[in-house]
Amino acid sequence: MSDPILSHIQHKYEEFNNRYFKGELPQIPIRWKKLKRASAVVEFTAATVKGKKTYIPNTMVMSFDTTYVRTKEEYEPILLHEMIHVYDVAIRNDVIANHGAQFLAKRRELSARTGIDIPLTDNISGLQLKNETVKPVAVVARIRNDGLYAFALLSVNTATAKVGEIVKSWSNDTRNHVQVMVVTSPIWSRKALQVPIQRNVNYKMKWFKMTQEEYDDARKNANVLWDNQPT
Ligand SMILES: [Zn+2]
Repeated sequence: MSDPILSHIQHKYEEFNNRYFKGELPQIPIRWKKLKRASAVVEFTAATVKGKKTYIPNTMVMSFDTTYVRTKEEYEPILLHEMIHVYDVAIRNDVIANHGAQFLAKRRELSARTGIDIPLTDNISGLQLKNETVKPVAVVARIRNDGLYAFALLSVNTATAKVGEIVKSWSNDTRNHVQVMVVTSPIWSRKALQVPIQRNVNYKMKWFKMTQEEYDDARKNANVLWDNQPT
């Protein structure tokens, strides 16, 4: 076990278990897993016993996401969140508790006792992606004359295949500066995890607000496929 962050999480599991759960929580495997949309997850097997969904002991595994770079301290609030799930399932045998009233009450109690703000959902804004997950994505940037910056994301394949349709839609549009770019940067790789990658380039396209910084980052790291107002 040469992974210092995983060792830290396992060590903290022991410590939090003894301190805040009377040492009642079972010892469970803790490992890395690519989850993308969650920072961690507790998985287990349940079966119906006498008409009630029941936890099967020794089937629980806790996994932490590998997508983002975090310090070892940043895993502690996430670990506490997951430990409440362990408590609900393994100790209270409530396999459907999820983030219900019971969970919320325990979260409030533990946040007060630990002084750690236990997250309810995962806030990934501001986190850096690990290098290996920086992948190209096609950004359709649209800057309206009134200054609104918007974007839509396509896969690189969709953008390449449908650039003709995009040209048809936007080439005579003087009110929108539209660019289709293949962008490879951490900022846009992160966006690709947060907003849908679309298949349509027509009126059904969903647009999302973009900041000037995000646009500048796209321009800096782009291979421009098409621009309706080339400079
Ligand atoms: Zn949860």
